[in-house]
Amino acid sequence: MSTLLEIRNLKKHYPVRKGFFGKQAGVVKAVDGISLSIQTGETLAIVGESGCGKSTTGRSILRLIEPTDGEIVFEGVDIRKLSPEQMRNFRTKMQIVFQDPYASLDPRWTVQRTLEEPFRTYERLSDTELRQQVAELMEVVGLSPYHADRFPHEFSGGQRQRIGIARALALKPKFIVCDEPVSALDVSIRAQVLNLMEDLQDQYSLTYLFISHDLSVVRFISDRVGVMYLGKLVELAPTKELYDQPLHPYTQSLISALPVPDPDAKRERIILSGDVPNPQHPPDGCAFHTRCPAAKAECRTVTPQWKEVSPGRSVACLLY
Ligand code: SF4
Ligand code: MG
Repeated sequence: MSTLLEIRNLKKHYPVRKGFFGKQAGVVKAVDGISLSIQTGETLAIVGESGCGKSTTGRSILRLIEPTDGEIVFEGVDIRKLSPEQMRNFRTKMQIVFQDPYASLDPRWTVQRTLEEPFRTYERLSDTELRQQVAELMEVVGLSPYHADRFPHEFSGGQRQRIGIARALALKPKFIVCDEPVSALDVSIRAQVLNLMEDLQDQYSLTYLFISHDLSVVRFISDRVGVMYLGKLVELAPTKELYDQPLHPYTQSLISALPVPDPDAKRERIILSGDVPNPQHPPDGCAFHTRCPAAKAECRTVTPQWKEVSPGRSVACLLY
C-alpha cells in the first residue's frame, strides 16, 4: 500500500471575540495538531463526540475551510502551498459527501442540473454528452436515469444521498471525505448506502476518510479508526484491534457503550462523569482528565505525548 495523503500537525484555531466587532477574547482550538497518513484504497474513520473537531478536520484537509497551520500532502504535493488556480485542478481529486443530502442539494435544481454541474465547471461537454454522463452516474449509484429531470424532494432520503454520492464521484476523484454520510438516514436504509459506498470504493479504487459518531457504522466500514477528543487524536488503530482491545480510557468508554452481540458475554459499561469541557478552556495536562476513570495526579499537569505503542497503534495517554 502506498500513502495517498499525509497530514502533519494540522490545526484550525478560531478566534473568539467579545461582541461582533469586539476584541479577541480567546481562541477555540477546534483541531489542534492532528498528524496521520491515509493509505491508498483504505477507509480511515474518525470518531468522537460532536464538537470534537472531526468535521473541521475533514473540511480543513480539503481546504473547504483554511487550516491555521500544518501540512496536507496529497500524492506528494503540499496542497496548502498551491495557488487558487492549482487548487482548483486538485479539487477534482478530492471530494466530499455531506451528512444531510437534502441541505446539500439545491432544491430548485433537477438531478440532471446538479450532476452536470461538475462537468460544466471542469470539462467542455455537449448537451448529449452531459446527458450521457449523468445517466451513467445515476446508474452507478443505483438510480434510474429516467428520473434525471426530477427535483430532490421527489426522492427518498436514501435516494438523495445516492445523488450526493454521484455528485462526489462525477470527476473521478481518488479521495472522498464522507462526513456522517448515513447519520441523517433511516436505520433501515443505512446498510444499503454503506454497501453502495463499499462497492464504489472497490470499483473505483477510492480512499475514504469516514467521519462518524456512530461506532457500529465505523466498525462495519473502516480499516482503521482514529479517535478524537477536544481537537486532538487520542488513539489510532486497525479497526479490529481498536474494538477488541481499546487502549485509551476514552476509547474504552465509547466501546463499552456498544451492544454486545453475545448476550451472555458481559461487558461493563463505562459511564463517563461530566460533560465535554468548553473547548475555549480545555483542561491542562491531559484534556480528558476531568472525565477519565483512570486519571492519576500527574494527568492534571502533564500533557500525554502521541506515541506508537505497537506497530500501527498509537495512543496519547500517560498509562502507556
Ligand atoms: Fe486518563 Fe491520564 Fe490517560 Fe488522560 S493521560 S486518558 S487522564 S489516564
Ligand atoms: Mg473498504
